[in-house]
Amino acid sequence: MKKLISLFAIGLFLSVASCSKDEDPLDNAVVINPNTNKQQTGSSANALLSDKKFKSMVVEVVYVNGFEPSPQAISNFVAFLTARTYKPGGINVVKRSIPSPGNAPYTNEEIVSIEDANRTKYNNADEIAVWAFFADGKSDKDTDTSVILGTAYRNTSFVIFEQTIQGLSDSPFEPNRSLLETTVITHEFGHILGLTNLGTALQSNHEDATHPKHCIEKTCLMYWSSELGGGIGNMVSSGSAPQLDSQCIADLRANGGK
Ligand SMILES: [Zn+2]
Ligand SMILES: [Zn+2]
Repeated sequence: MKKLISLFAIGLFLSVASCSKDEDPLDNAVVINPNTNKQQTGSSANALLSDKKFKSMVVEVVYVNGFEPSPQAISNFVAFLTARTYKPGGINVVKRSIPSPGNAPYTNEEIVSIEDANRTKYNNADEIAVWAFFADGKSDKDTDTSVILGTAYRNTSFVIFEQTIQGLSDSPFEPNRSLLETTVITHEFGHILGLTNLGTALQSNHEDATHPKHCIEKTCLMYWSSELGGGIGNMVSSGSAPQLDSQCIADLRANGGK
């Protein structure tokens, strides 16, 4: 029997990292600067999509020993970025491993701390930097019926629960691992690009009311899979990763993307 997986979570837990009211001299909402890192998910969508400020992009891929994403998935991710963003100076991936932080299953706060302790790439004058962490454990939000495969939790940061992906791929009746990785990585990055209605404005009414910040189109990469007929097994059953539908692409184009 196919296990149902509700695969994605949007990280809206950045309140842990944001200022308290007392610290804000304007006694106002926290000011978000899209030109810096460690801000709210979706807030740098335009900076990532367009070349208005940042002409190139660097993606810092850090994985725990033994949990390296497949080269195919990384090259699919770069192809996805190249297809949707204007970065005439190029998109560069730098990869390295770290020892296990050793505290899986991971809370959101632990994922934030791992980034804070290990991230080395930050935006500079004309290059925007992205952090991608491939974890050696599962999310502490997993339950018997639902597991989280990835989370986009800041404007330029996402985590992939690679151990969970490895447990769900490459066995008989399970999807190919690089296909599963590609799907989760590009879905999470779709949130970082502001989809759906997460910092990139809707050009048509296609946000799923029952699963906010996701697309209503069932074949779209930004569809929230759950319940009947859901689960990532169905989403990747065609043998290729789901793509953005025309409505999500129209949103990205209106916000500076390709
Ligand atoms: Zn999602
Ligand atoms: Zn869509």
